[in-house]
Amino acid sequence: MEPSLDLPCIRIILLGPPGSGKGTQAKLLAGHFNISAISTGEILRSHVKAGTALGEQARSAMERGELISDELIVGIMSTEFARPGRERGYVLDGFPRTVYQARALESLVAPFARMVIVKIDVPEHEVIRRLASRRVCGQCESTSSSHGATTEHCVQCGGALELRVDDRAEEIQRHRLAVYDREAVSVEEYYAFWPSFVAVDGTRSAADVSAEIVGAVRRLLSPRRRSDCRFNPVRRADVS
Ligand code: AMP
Repeated sequence: MEPSLDLPCIRIILLGPPGSGKGTQAKLLAGHFNISAISTGEILRSHVKAGTALGEQARSAMERGELISDELIVGIMSTEFARPGRERGYVLDGFPRTVYQARALESLVAPFARMVIVKIDVPEHEVIRRLASRRVCGQCESTSSSHGATTEHCVQCGGALELRVDDRAEEIQRHRLAVYDREAVSVEEYYAFWPSFVAVDGTRSAADVSAEIVGAVRRLLSPRRRSDCRFNPVRRADVS
């Protein structure tokens, strides 16, 4: 943990295809900087599991590997950003996934200058290999990798590990990657000229990738550019 880093606020956006390691990196970085990891996929899966109205709205799109509506996601994030402690910053895993969401994010958080955008590059064949071995804990929703063991339990809570519904069929996996390619290109283009945009090679070990991102965050978020991470609910209606 690095609580003494002189940065008053650290916000990190992780971009990358399903299986690129965003979830793992979000947790490592959140632990390192002592900030929250916010995963839209995890939030949605817990709503689906709990059978909430929001979960019911999201379920079918998620099972088909499609994105859920921008309005629904922006509403969820608006609640997330307002939670206590979030003024210190957070790592975003799975948001924004469309240009609409990227614009909404700029309206929701202020000043946007405290944001580092990290693209995790992993080739498609490697992503497909990783998705085949990915498991999610039925109890705490955390993600792990299967190593072929017969009894698989979550290292966090001991719950039974399962295949994610949207990882089950190769056809759905490929569809999710196609959806990612369709939307991500425009999101990456949207951020490509942002001064704190960095691309990292995600094929290395999780620890190496994390160390590179930590270095980039320290370099890009200079303590001299001090400000806090305010939530800006009033401008939500400005999003178009
Ligand atoms: P993930 O765990 O990030 O792969 O997300 C799982 C599924 O949740 C995605 O395939 C989408 O159906 C949905 N989802 C997660 N984040 C978003 C988002 N930002 N916008 C729309 N749908 C999302």
